[in-house]
Amino acid sequence: MSIQTIGVVGAGSMGSGIANLAAMKGFQVILRDIEDRFLDGALARMDQFMSKSVAKGKMTETEKQETLARIRTTTNLDDMKDADIVIEAVLEDLELKKQVFSQLDGIVPDHVILATNTSSMSITEIASATTRPDRVAGMHFFNPAQLMKLVEVVRGFNTSDETVEELKTLSKALSKEPVEVKKDSPGFIVNRIMIPQFIEAIKILEEGVATAEDIDKAVKLGLNYPMGPFTLQDFAGVDIGYHVMNYLKEELNDPHFAPPLLLKQLVKANRLGKKTGAGFYDYNKEEVKA
Ligand code: NAD
Repeated sequence: MSIQTIGVVGAGSMGSGIANLAAMKGFQVILRDIEDRFLDGALARMDQFMSKSVAKGKMTETEKQETLARIRTTTNLDDMKDADIVIEAVLEDLELKKQVFSQLDGIVPDHVILATNTSSMSITEIASATTRPDRVAGMHFFNPAQLMKLVEVVRGFNTSDETVEELKTLSKALSKEPVEVKKDSPGFIVNRIMIPQFIEAIKILEEGVATAEDIDKAVKLGLNYPMGPFTLQDFAGVDIGYHVMNYLKEELNDPHFAPPLLLKQLVKANRLGKKTGAGFYDYNKEEVKA
C-alpha cells in the first residue's frame, strides 16, 4: 500500500491535529467538515500551532506555508474519493460514526482503509456499517495529535492482519509509536485505565476532600503525570469524558463507570449554552451552575 493522500473527516480538536500532523510529515491531506466555519477554525488552529514552532526555530515560515498548502479543505464528503486512507474524527456518537462510515464505504475504493479515531467505541459496530469490515480499524491518536507519541491501533472483530500492519506502518511514518489493541474492548487500553482515575478525582472533589487545584497538584507531583485529571479533562472537553463513562458503563455493564453528578452538571450547563466549553476549573462560577 502506498499512502500519499490522507483523508480526515471532522475538523475539530482531533481532526485538525491529525490533518496538521499528516501535512507536516509530507502527506497530502483532504480535510472535511460539515461547515466552512469549522474548516476555517481548523486552519487557524494549525496556523497558530505551527507559528509557535516557527518562533521556537523548529520549523521555518516556508515549511509552515508548504504544510498548509498540502491541506485541501472541503464540505463535500465525495472528495474523499481521492484519499488512500480515511481517518474519521467526528463527534463521539456511534450513530453519527456509522452514518459517516456507511457513506464513505460508497465513496472510496474497496481497498482503502477506513480508520476511526474513536476514544472508546466498538470498531466492530462501526465497521458493520460498511461492506469492508476487514479494512476498518481504530487509529486512536491522543490530544494534541501533533505532539502525543502514542497511537492505539485497534482491531475490530473482522479487521485483517494486513490492515493492522498497514496502520502500524502509517503510524511510524507519522513519527508515532503504535500499540496494538488485540481485541475490540471498550475504552481500549488508555481510556480503560484513565477514566476510573477521572471518576475518583471528581468524587474526591465532590466530597470536599481537596480542591481541583490540589488534586491536580497531587497527581502531578505524586504520580509524576504531566497534567492533573482536571486540567486534562478541561483540555479534552468535559463532554468527551462524560460520553466515554456512559459508554463504558453500558458496554462493560459496570456501574463504577457512571459519571459523577458534578460532571453531569457541567455537561448540562454547556449544553444549555450558559458557558460553552466550561470545565472543572469553572465549576464554582455562577453561570455554570445549572
Ligand atoms: P470536536 O467536537 O472538537 O470535533 C468534531 C468535529 O466533527 C466538529 O468540527 C464537527 O463539526 C465535525 N462533524 C460532525 N459531523 C460531521 C460529519 N458528518 N462530517 C464531518 N465532520 C463532522 O471533537 P474532537 O475532540 O476532535 O473528537 C473527535 C473524535 O476524536 C471523537 O470520536 C473523540 O472521542 C476522539 N478523540 C478525542 C480526543 C480529545 O482529547 N479531544 C482524544 C482522542 C480521541
